[in-house]
Amino acid sequence: MRTTRIIDSKALVPLALLLLAVLVVAGCSSDSSSDASSSSDDSTSSGSCPDGDTSLSISASVDQWGDIAEQLAGDCGEVDTVITSSSVDPHDYEPTSSDIQKMTSAQVAVINGADYDPWAEKALEGSDVTVVDAGTVCGAETGANPHLWYDPDCVMKMGAAMSEAYEKADESTKSYFENLQKQWTEDMKSYTDAVAATKKVADGKTYGATESVFDYMASAVGMKNETPQGYQNASKNESDPAPGDIQAFKSALTNNDMDVLIFNTQTEGPVPSQLKETADSANVPVVDVTETVPDDASTFQEWQINQLDSLQQALQ
Ligand SMILES: [Zn+2]
Repeated sequence: MRTTRIIDSKALVPLALLLLAVLVVAGCSSDSSSDASSSSDDSTSSGSCPDGDTSLSISASVDQWGDIAEQLAGDCGEVDTVITSSSVDPHDYEPTSSDIQKMTSAQVAVINGADYDPWAEKALEGSDVTVVDAGTVCGAETGANPHLWYDPDCVMKMGAAMSEAYEKADESTKSYFENLQKQWTEDMKSYTDAVAATKKVADGKTYGATESVFDYMASAVGMKNETPQGYQNASKNESDPAPGDIQAFKSALTNNDMDVLIFNTQTEGPVPSQLKETADSANVPVVDVTETVPDDASTFQEWQINQLDSLQQALQ
């Protein structure tokens, strides 16, 4: 299942994007119509953008943030995301000139920052685009783990920062964006509830990880990272871990020092595969996580909740 997804993802991308577009559109209109029945503000209660001519142009470097940017823009904004395919590794992405153009021609740009998408940061330097940068919004220090969309607090802060940027950019649609932010916060309860429910099961449990992608979430649900430090350092610097670090990792798995192995399916290579094999033969459950929104999830929330469910199952 997990490998099929990666292999098939290239072929499935156009279809998946189409489906995603349909789902996003369907999601927006149904959300907005349910809002219409509960909202007392007539000017923003319609599903379509109140000012027909206004569409805020928004760019996003990666779909982890792009998906949230879309949810918060509704019918009053057009989000153009550069990296949308789970078959691309954002860590070493080389942008095309049209990607740069996409980022710099928008009114609002949503990026991860924290040296995750340095090409986008660089492109936006000195431009008059309003930049919403997760690294800045969430106060990530230089050299911090850049996978900020796995930090529940950061996700909520970013959502608020995006709405704020949208509201400032377009006075005529300010109340529309304000309403959508309220709706979104409500909708995100399913996600924050899933984090809380996972914490009940995961608190105090240990894990090893093939890559640091899930670390913020693991910490949010109270887990202890037992990944050997040498392996973590190598992975952070995108260098090969020393044989001793790999051996230490394998020993930790076979000695049951790790309750689960967190496996990023988007960082392939012989070392993660070996670790997975070791975990399998030591009966340590493997929890698959992805760097970017996978093709089988229609929203950020659905993606994250699915993974948290898998983690809960693995720990039970
Ligand atoms: Zn990563």
